[in-house]
Amino acid sequence: MDLSTEIAYVKGVGPHRAEMFATKGIVTVEDLLAYIPFRYEDRSNVKPIRQLAPGETATVIATVQAAGMVQLRRRSLGLFEAIFTDATRGLLAGKWFHARYLEGVLKPGLRVALYGKVEFDSFTRGLSMLHPEFEILTPGDDDEDAALHTGRIVPIYEAIQKLSTRVIRTLTHRVLSQLPPPADHLPARLRDELKLPARGRAVRDVHFPPAGCDLRLWNEFRSPGHVRLIFEEFFWLELGLALKRRNARSLQGIAFPLTDRVREQIKSMLPFKPTAAQKRVLGEIARDMASPHPMSRLLQGDVGSGKTIVAAESAIIALANGYQVAVLAPTEILAAQHHYYWKRLLEPLGYFTVLLTGSRTAREKQKLKRLVREGLVHVAIGTHALLEEDVEFHKLGLAVIDEQHRFGVLQRLNLQRKGVHPDVLVMTATPIPRTLALTLYGDLDVSVIDELPPGRKPIQTRHVTSDRVEQVYSFLRGEIDRGRQAYIVYPVIDESETQAMKAAQKMYEHLSREVFPDAAVGLLHGRLPGAEKERVMGEFKEGKIQILVSTTVIEVGVDVPNATVMVIEQAERFGLAQLHQLRGRVGRGGEQSYCILVTEKLNDPARERIRALVDSNDGFAIAEMDLKLRGPGEFFGTKQSGLPALQIANVIRDQDLLEAARRHAGQFIESPASPEELTRAVEYLRAHWQRRYGLVQVG
Ligand code: ADP
Ligand code: MG
Repeated sequence: MDLSTEIAYVKGVGPHRAEMFATKGIVTVEDLLAYIPFRYEDRSNVKPIRQLAPGETATVIATVQAAGMVQLRRRSLGLFEAIFTDATRGLLAGKWFHARYLEGVLKPGLRVALYGKVEFDSFTRGLSMLHPEFEILTPGDDDEDAALHTGRIVPIYEAIQKLSTRVIRTLTHRVLSQLPPPADHLPARLRDELKLPARGRAVRDVHFPPAGCDLRLWNEFRSPGHVRLIFEEFFWLELGLALKRRNARSLQGIAFPLTDRVREQIKSMLPFKPTAAQKRVLGEIARDMASPHPMSRLLQGDVGSGKTIVAAESAIIALANGYQVAVLAPTEILAAQHHYYWKRLLEPLGYFTVLLTGSRTAREKQKLKRLVREGLVHVAIGTHALLEEDVEFHKLGLAVIDEQHRFGVLQRLNLQRKGVHPDVLVMTATPIPRTLALTLYGDLDVSVIDELPPGRKPIQTRHVTSDRVEQVYSFLRGEIDRGRQAYIVYPVIDESETQAMKAAQKMYEHLSREVFPDAAVGLLHGRLPGAEKERVMGEFKEGKIQILVSTTVIEVGVDVPNATVMVIEQAERFGLAQLHQLRGRVGRGGEQSYCILVTEKLNDPARERIRALVDSNDGFAIAEMDLKLRGPGEFFGTKQSGLPALQIANVIRDQDLLEAARRHAGQFIESPASPEELTRAVEYLRAHWQRRYGLVQVG
């Protein structure tokens, strides 16, 4: 047996269990060993029932004395109860609701390990546990070592379908006892410097902690073995990314010199003085663009921090050197708005800007595409339509992607392919911690705008329940009377834009006729024809529309500085990042702005989101909380194919180790102990980690 042995061939597994393992991506022995416990229990020191005290969480080893469904008046609750006893002859009740399935499982006479919170049952005047975790200890067929499960510290695994923690523990133990000690591929110098245990030792200890260890460390994933395995996983990932970057950087790209003429043009285009952060970031971009290798840079900045103007400055660097620029935006409204903004900035300099979206007629599109192909258009702004096969550029120098979290890696590549290694600038208002960004966006460098334009007042955020919506309206009327403008947003329900559109439509009629008969109310949603959307947005921008009723189509990018009120209806239905984005549509001018979150029924997570928003205006803090609340998988969505499937490490829990790994991977490439050591590491990476992380063409 070795690490690559398929798990189906391990004694006690077989095809049926192998299939269940496969649902978690566990195919080889190596995969099984990477499936580590989520918790540990000290069963060498369990509590006798007589010594239990209400309120404590404890492990008890006891025998089932009686068990069965309890007849309640509400039968639908399906209460299953078991009475346990042990050598101290104390009694403990275990209760499980909706647990008819336990009838055939917890049978009298079985020895069981229970883990849960002890409670005092005032009705029976005895001790009980509600929904304790349990594990049957009576030896089963494939137990060669029953002592594995009790009388020691035991690992608790998350069950995989019908594979219980006990089965996984037994199999893991079997594999570990049959496997020769694994080779250690982590560079020796690094292991010494960081005092990391050898790999074999680490794997063993993570599954079966040595007697007398400090279990707290294990339960926090910070035992020496955990640290070693987590660090190692990050190290190979970061090394792979660093090599990939190095490769990309060595490609021949376009060098755009930052001449005086370019500087002049930028200066004459700027409608205001850039902030220090904007200047610094432009400097980083200009340096990349001047180098003869392609730029891949991510620009992070909170909503309203002024990313667009930086992108426009970068565009001038390419334009003034005779190249074209492409700007990709996720929605038609945002694309149209970019067009409006860029046109005003660039046309005075003689640069011709067009808008290419799906709602253009075929004839219009043909014409625009021809102009782009012939190089008569300098800046092409658009939605996905820009990515179509037949959109060809004469000389694409810079590709800008706004709100890049709405796009996948492939779309970025598609746009890039329209030129010969053009520079790429991607922008996002969903900021994430720097090291994390560098890892997730792998091959991108990161710049951050961490300062808002001057004169901005922090947005005041309020939470109001829907029965008090009249107060919201009267507040809104006051703002309108003072010349300000407002948004009222309705959520997309069940992923269906149609429903949200109907809700918005209905509210629009109600608001425009009954609530604000004297105000100019407009309606905007995704199903409006492109020209109509542009008209509504245009009128809102010009102040002809005072209140804009909308779906989330305005979520990203829309910029109307005179709007000071954002009312979000059914705010409980939105995610944290989305709420922050929507809020970012106001507070863009010098006036005090307000965001009002109207909710109906709140569950706990929703309440937490609303509170976070009321308490904080800081996009970085909010993004980090969102990441924690939702976990990286959901946060980044399936589109972020850049997110590697980590086995042991967790990008949130283990950020400190991620940072260390990144630093050491960089140093290792810069100055390996010997050239052979680097070659060895690259070969190992190629052979073992490429499949998992999709690090194609490494090294
Ligand atoms: P975002 O980063 O969310 O894309 P925008 O680029 O839309 O933000 O900028 C928000 C608003 O702030 C715009 O109206 C923009 O013109 C304005 N703005 C940006 N930078 C400055 C600055 N340095 N001084 C004044 N206003 C600025
Ligand atoms: Mg923007």
